[in-house]
Amino acid sequence: MKLLEERIREDGVVLDGDVLKVNQFLNHQIDPELMYAVGQEFKRLFGEEDITKILTVESSGIAPAIMAGLLMHVPVVFAKKQKSSTLNGSLYTAKVYSYTKKVENTISVDAKFLSTNDNVLIIDDFLANGQAVNGLLDICKLAQAHVVGAGIVIEKSFQQGAELIRKRGVRLESLARISSFAGNKVHFAGSAEND
Ligand code: 5GP
Repeated sequence: MKLLEERIREDGVVLDGDVLKVNQFLNHQIDPELMYAVGQEFKRLFGEEDITKILTVESSGIAPAIMAGLLMHVPVVFAKKQKSSTLNGSLYTAKVYSYTKKVENTISVDAKFLSTNDNVLIIDDFLANGQAVNGLLDICKLAQAHVVGAGIVIEKSFQQGAELIRKRGVRLESLARISSFAGNKVHFAGSAEND
């Protein structure tokens, strides 16, 4: 997605540990118009599927997920990372190791929001080693919900996540695919502007 790649080139900052900081438009300040365009792209890619629900994980997956949900007219559920007194029913849970925070979280979804009748599109902001998406897939499995695919805003293709998700037989669509951070610059996979 050209608009997204341009924005990453403009505002993305490469940090140590192969982390891209995109706090200008996705992870802290959010650009709603760019997120709307991201939602449109997810709709273009997955709109033909009979999606009943979008599933993401708090907090940075929520902005792109909500735009896709708005455009596809389906509810958006986000897995919670913190235990809360409002989350007191039956839960689906999975363990997820956080790439950026280096801690293991247990993510939870209230069982009433996912069922065997659901066709789920998973959306997240980044794909690195695939732990977040893997945990969301585990939750869908527990709920016996059908997964239509996973839509990622920014995939770091040089890490293991894409392979892991595809190995689980899941359709993966990423709007920007980064092939490397060589020279502390962002290089996109399959882009002619890689110099
Ligand atoms: P994974 O679970 O695929 O290893 O990592 C994905 C999760 O870690 C995303 O939900 C995202 O919050 C965070 N993440 C991974 N890599 C990056 C990165 O380069 N930049 C930012 N901002 N977040 C990342």
